[in-house]
Parts: sequence; structure tokens; C-alpha cells
Amino acid sequence: TTNIIELKHITKTYEDGYTAVSDFNLEVKQGEFITFLGPSGCGKTTLLNLLGMLLSPTSGTLTVNGTPAEHWGDRERCRFWHDHAAFVFQDYGIIPNETVLSNIVLDTRAAKRARRHIPRRLSAILDYLHLQDMYLQPVDTLSGGEKQRVGVARALWKQADFVFADEPTASLDAENKRIVTDLLFDLAQKGACVIIATHDDDLSAHCHQVIDVEYFSPHRD
Ligand code: ADP
Ligand code: MG
Repeated sequence: TTNIIELKHITKTYEDGYTAVSDFNLEVKQGEFITFLGPSGCGKTTLLNLLGMLLSPTSGTLTVNGTPAEHWGDRERCRFWHDHAAFVFQDYGIIPNETVLSNIVLDTRAAKRARRHIPRRLSAILDYLHLQDMYLQPVDTLSGGEKQRVGVARALWKQADFVFADEPTASLDAENKRIVTDLLFDLAQKGACVIIATHDDDLSAHCHQVIDVEYFSPHRD
């Protein structure tokens, strides 16, 4: 199947009446690497949450692989997250009190098996992201940048169709930044849709589409 998310005339007004995204149109196709670029507060995270079905639009239409999704309930959204999506968010989606390994594999039985014998592909991911010495540690003991790398490792392990990343390079040093950027780019080359919110120009330099979000958000006085 072809992976594609399409947004038409999407507007998001928060409960306090503030419109963070207004009449936004976008098509993200298989193999594309897209960044939402712009200063803090311009609506990058809001857009990412809308595309990731974490937030419902106030108006407009949104389709996932051709299926209308703007009115999806919990069940359809959970199925989308489970079957197709991976999120690289600094403080979202990390399961506290669990090991790094469990947080990457996200399946108790698979994690137990991996504890005894790490599959080669997983061990390569751990090595590559410099997580090889901490995979049995509780995830809570990791730094922000390490948690971000756990999120990337999870997306790689899952081979997700849609990867959503919010400022994935924000707390990384230069080397890890380069690694994460390359890996995200690689995921897109392998057929995923990779959608990133960032204000990192190095990251957006790799992209197929750079969307200047400021253009779509009204200015707050
Ligand atoms: P960015 O990720 O680019 O920094 P956000 O999408 O987080 O921007 O926020 C865009 C705007 O929407 C900001 O002005 C922010 O204050 C506002 N905003 C974000 N979340 C909410 C919310 N839950 N309720 C009201 N306003 C919000
Ligand atoms: Mg943000």
C-alpha cells in the first residue's frame, strides 16, 4: 500500500479561542521527508499533532491512505498508532519505569526474548544510536537527548510507515545530531513518511519539502 496523508483547509482553534493553524493544506507521500520550520509558537507542534491524530482539527478534511480521518474515534486512532505510526517526542510516549529495551520494542514478550538474546537488527540500532550500554536501564534515568534517541530507535525497530518527530535534534550533540538526521532521512528513503517539527536548519536541509509554518499561523497580538 502507498502511505499518504492529505490535509485540506485544516484549521485548529484551541479551547481558549486561539487559532494556531488556519486553512492549512498539505500532502505527505510515501518516501517523503518533510519539515515544519519556524520560530517557537508558530504552530509546528500543533501541525504535527494534527497529522499524528493526537489532536482533532476544528475544521477541514484529513485523509490517511485515502480514508477520511478527521472524525476518527479512539479505536481508529489507536489502530493507526499501533499499526502505522511512530512518535519521536521528547516527553511523550516514553513508558516510565520500563527499560530502554522495553521502550524500544514496546511488546513485553518480545522484550523478554530480546533480553536473553538481542536480535542482530536491534543490536545494530542500539549501537548506532549509542544506546548499547544502557538498554537495560530504566528509561527514567536517561537524559533528554538519550530519550530522544530511544524514540528514534523505536521508530527504526518498528519500521513505521509514518514517523512524527518533534524537535528530534534539540538536545543532541553534533555527532548524535548527525546520526539522528541520517537515520530519519534513511527511514524516508525506505518508504516511510517522515514529518518533523524543528527550527534546526541542518535538519531541514535534508528535506523534500520545508514548510514555513509562520505563513499559516495568524499573529498573536
Ligand atoms: P511551536 O511548536 O511552533 O512552538 P505550538 O504548536 O506548540 O508551536 O503552539 C502554537 C500556538 O498555539 C502557540 O501560540 C501556543 O501558545 C498555542 N497553543 C498550543 N497549545 C495550546 C493549547 N492547548 N491551548 C491554547 N493554545 C495553545
Ligand atoms: Mg513545538
